[in-house]
Amino acid sequence: MNSEYFMNLERQYGANNYESLEVVLSKGEGVWVWNVEGIQFMDMLSAYSAINHGHRHPKITKALKDQIDRLTLTSRAFFNDKLPLFTEKICKFTGKEMFLPMNTGAEGVETAIKCMRKWGYEVKGIEPETGEIIVFEENFHGRTTTIISFSTDPGSHDHFGPFTPGFKIVPYNDTEAVEKAINDRTIGILIEPIQGEAGVNVPDEGYLTKLQKICRKHKILFACDEIQTGFGRTGKRFCFDHEGLDPDIIIMGKALGGGVYPVSGVAANKDILGLIKKGQHGSTFGGNPLACVAGITAIDVLQEEKLIENSATQGTYFMKLLKQLEGNSKVEKVRGKGLLIGVVIKQSAGPAKGYVKKLRDEGLICKETHDTIIRFAPPLVITKDQIDWAFSKIQKVLGD
Ligand SMILES: *Cc1c(COP(=O)(O)O)cnc(C)c1O
Repeated sequence: MNSEYFMNLERQYGANNYESLEVVLSKGEGVWVWNVEGIQFMDMLSAYSAINHGHRHPKITKALKDQIDRLTLTSRAFFNDKLPLFTEKICKFTGKEMFLPMNTGAEGVETAIKCMRKWGYEVKGIEPETGEIIVFEENFHGRTTTIISFSTDPGSHDHFGPFTPGFKIVPYNDTEAVEKAINDRTIGILIEPIQGEAGVNVPDEGYLTKLQKICRKHKILFACDEIQTGFGRTGKRFCFDHEGLDPDIIIMGKALGGGVYPVSGVAANKDILGLIKKGQHGSTFGGNPLACVAGITAIDVLQEEKLIENSATQGTYFMKLLKQLEGNSKVEKVRGKGLLIGVVIKQSAGPAKGYVKKLRDEGLICKETHDTIIRFAPPLVITKDQIDWAFSKIQKVLGD
C-alpha cells in the first residue's frame, strides 16, 4: 500500500476540510519524518508548533507509556494523583496562582473568554451579558462557533452563523484603534503576541507593552493566546517575555502536550480563575492523568534540555541565513522570532504552494499560510548542522 492508496482512501471517506500537502507520513523521530515509501523528510512545520520537543521524544513517550500502564482517565468526578502535580508545575512555570486544564487550544480560548466575561460582570461590575472583548483583525484562536464569530477570514467565518456577539475587532499593531474601541462595557483584550496563522505577523517592538499599559490604565484584562508561540517557540518561555510582560491570562496548548497528546489550559491568578466555581465549567478529558504526565514531562524536557535557549540560538542563526534571500527575485521579506519564521514570497514569483511542493521534493516539508507566506517552524531540538542542511535546500528552491 503506497502513498497514492492512502491519499485516495482519505479523499474517498474523509471530509475535505484540509488541503494537505501530498506526503503520507508513517514514522517520525526528532526533526525527521518518513513517508510510507520510507523516504525521509525534515519536518519544518512541527504540527503548527505542537512538536516543539521533536517527534517521539524518548523521555515523553516513556512517561506516557508508563502512565498508560497505570491509569489513563478518571474524569474530574474524582481526584487523580497527577493533576495536582501538573497544576503546581504550570503555576511555577508561569508564575500564576491557578491553572484550569482543557484538551484542545480552542477549548483553552473558550475557557479564557468565559473567565474574562465572569470577571467583567462579577469584579468589574459591567452589566451582565453585555460585555465586550477586543480582538484583532486576522486573528486565529481556533474553530469553535464562538471563536469563529470574531474571525476576519471569510473561509473560517462565513455561513457558520448566527454568531456569538460581544467581540470588537480592531486592526493589529495599532494601539490607537484599541484606545478608541474601549468603552464602559469593555472586559479586556485577547491577542496573539505574534499572529501565526495570519503569516507570522510580528507586531512592532513595544506594541504589546503599550497594550498591557492600556489594559492596566482602564482596569481591563490582558489575555495572551500563547498556544502557538509558547514553550520556547519564539526563543523565550512565552512570546510576551520578549517585552517582560505579565498578562492577566495565559492561554496554552499545542506543545504543552509534548507532541503526543492534546493538552491545553488557562493560567491566571485567583482573582480571575477563582471566579469559576464548582459545576460552572469543565471537560471530561481535561486534566486526565495521561494528559498531565504529558504536560509535566513536556515542561521538564523543555527546561532540562534547554530547548528555549536552543530555539533562540538556532532561530537567530536560521533567520540570518534566510535574510540572505530577502529582496531576491522570489523572497519579499523574512520575519519572525526564534524558530517561528515566515518567508513572504513576492507576488511576481507565483503562489507559495508551488515552492512548498519543490521543498518537499528536496526532502523538507512545510506549509504555506495564505497564498504568499511559507512558515518555517522546526522542532526546537534542531541542531546547527540540520539548519545548514535545511538552508541548502531552501536556497536551492528560493534562491536566484
Ligand atoms: C492552533 C491555535 C489555536 C487552536 O488550537 P486547536 O488545538 O487547534 O484548537 C488557537 N490559537 C492559536 C494562536 C493557535 O495557533
